[in-house]
Amino acid sequence: MSPSLDLAPSDALPVKKGPRQTEQRKAVFEALMARADHPSAVEVFLRVKTRVPSISLATVYNCLETLAASGQVRMVNHEREPSRYCANLSEHAHLFCSHCGSVTDLPVHTPMPPDQIWYLPEGVTISQQEVSFRGTCAKCGQHPHSAAQAPPLPPHSRTAPLRPSPLPPI
Ligand SMILES: [Zn+2]
Ligand SMILES: [Zn+2]
Repeated sequence: MSPSLDLAPSDALPVKKGPRQTEQRKAVFEALMARADHPSAVEVFLRVKTRVPSISLATVYNCLETLAASGQVRMVNHEREPSRYCANLSEHAHLFCSHCGSVTDLPVHTPMPPDQIWYLPEGVTISQQEVSFRGTCAKCGQHPHSAAQAPPLPPHSRTAPLRPSPLPPI
């Protein structure tokens, strides 16, 4: 009866019941925005899965890749650990806690161009600045003897219905 069904013909993927890719991407983005704890892709997957049970890990990887490529999230790499993701786009460095493994955002007092912070040899151009520190986070510093493990996420702590997405079309 309705010849103009709203199915996107551009996707090679089979059209299935369930959230479309933009909605999945929105859910991934919101999972990152909800907590500033720099989760890995697998952790993002576990969080999003509570809201979008049909989502796959591969889809989460794809969404994260798209979000990172479009500059909406930052990929955070440290040593040989799996990449983590950061939705804080203001200028900041990362503190990697050598005690509990957490990653904390360290904002700058006053944003400055790199050549006012670092000595840059002549001819050097900075396209992206990534500063990281290794030390102990505030929690581990206050309770150095407690096994500082990330507290478990309370179930259904973020199960609010999806709000209109702040994402521009990609
Ligand atoms: Zn960060
Ligand atoms: Zn710590």
